[in-house]
Amino acid sequence: MSEASPCLNCGACCSHFRVSFFWGECASSGGTVPDELVVQINPTRVAMIGTDQKPVRCCSLEGEVGKGTSCSIYAQRSSTCREFEASWHEGVQNVDCDAARAAFGLAPLEMPFELDLPISA
Ligand code: SF4
Ligand code: SF4
Repeated sequence: MSEASPCLNCGACCSHFRVSFFWGECASSGGTVPDELVVQINPTRVAMIGTDQKPVRCCSLEGEVGKGTSCSIYAQRSSTCREFEASWHEGVQNVDCDAARAAFGLAPLEMPFELDLPISA
């Protein structure tokens, strides 16, 4: 049985960073991200609508940050979203995850117990 993702009651990164990626990831270019959900930010890149402004909030984020959130285009999300991992996923800290959470008053995710270094004799 796997543990639930910590992202399901967070969503901070989707409300903190500009989420940009190559326009070729848009559906009209053979990718997956719906074109109507992005804004062009330069000749080669687009950003999720809502993340290129202040306050930041991706147009595809549903729910309340820190309570319960989901992505309405999860299966179609960009590589930028897919490659952004929660801290300690596969044992690697993600300081950007920590920073996004901090911006909403959420504590950084803790290193899982099994990753603690053994105490030498
Ligand atoms: S800030 Fe970290 S824990 Fe929160 S949704 Fe993003 S990756 Fe997940
Ligand atoms: S597309 Fe989904 S995963 Fe990516 S920033 Fe928006 S809500 Fe978050």
